Amino acid sequence: MKITGVEAIPFAIPYRKPLTFASGEVHVAEHVLVRVHTDDGVVGIAEAPPRPFTYGETQDGVVAVIRKIFAPQVIGLNLWQREVIHARLGRTVGNPVAKAAIDMAVWDALGRTLDIQVTELLGGYTDRMRVSHMLGFDEPAAMVAEAEKMRDVHGITTFKVKVGRRPVELDVAVVRALREALGEGAELYIDGNRGWTASESAAAMKQMADLNLLFAEELCPADDVLGRRWLVSHIDVPFIADESVPTPADVTREVLGGSATAISIKTARTGFTGSQRVHHLAEGLGLEVVMGNQIDSQLGSMCSVVFGAAYRLTSRRAGELSNFLDMSDDLLTEPLEICGGELTIRPGAGLGVDLDPDKLARYRQDI
Ligand SMILES: [Mg+2]
Repeated sequence: MKITGVEAIPFAIPYRKPLTFASGEVHVAEHVLVRVHTDDGVVGIAEAPPRPFTYGETQDGVVAVIRKIFAPQVIGLNLWQREVIHARLGRTVGNPVAKAAIDMAVWDALGRTLDIQVTELLGGYTDRMRVSHMLGFDEPAAMVAEAEKMRDVHGITTFKVKVGRRPVELDVAVVRALREALGEGAELYIDGNRGWTASESAAAMKQMADLNLLFAEELCPADDVLGRRWLVSHIDVPFIADESVPTPADVTREVLGGSATAISIKTARTGFTGSQRVHHLAEGLGLEVVMGNQIDSQLGSMCSVVFGAAYRLTSRRAGELSNFLDMSDDLLTEPLEICGGELTIRPGAGLGVDLDPDKLARYRQDI
């Protein structure tokens, strides 16, 4: 049960097509694989997907902070000491995805050691989640075609539409085209990644008032404090805080300040231990929750569904679990499959997924 080593392995896998949104774009998944080794010979795995444009982390920075600062602080602890690990990593500010990947790899190692699924260790509410697919910037016809393909091939009926372009009519036209093509049975919500001002957001929401949106997410920056508070008080759907609430303290501040009425939980930035705290806080505050995607590969997507399926609140809404479909390849031995609009937990211990050594050798960048 004692941690004997922590590896940080940079890898890169190209996307078939880039994902573009208001705060950035992604062409290649330049992530870091984290492996936690124990003296029993168990290896726990997780991935860190750095997002420089959102949290300031880079692939090189994640590798460096894990190897030089975090690994020496957790080696020698045992897998049950997750609170000690959380506290020690917390002594360093920032670096959310580096910390989260170590945390999740520890949980995976614990599950494998005990021969139990991590989702059962966490809460065991269900074994699956409905899937929401994220649509990046494109022409309306192309975004409709992608949504229809996801519906027809994978059974997905919930879509998150990236917005935040100028003029706002560009994005309004997309959402209108999606509603007309998919019908009222589809769930649609929008994510601005802080691309609009509060007044642009309000104008866009007015133009989309008849489109039955489920949520609106991060339409304008949280740092526009009064503007955002005004916007949230004037729209009639829950307003999701995502990148503005990476910690429980941020959730408290934004929600009690009137700048959000729902939140996104991303295991990629809060791991399992931090996501538990955010989940319990959200439940106490009476917030709706969406399991978000940090453009995760299959390993990260499995971490999201493992956590989301563990609780009633996190499994109620469709989770953003399909970004891996746009990657040209992956590291797992058995690819994840979205069937009937759902992603299901694997039966094995821990996260229930394993790495393909040949694929890791092909995509790792450090040897
Ligand atoms: Mg978002």
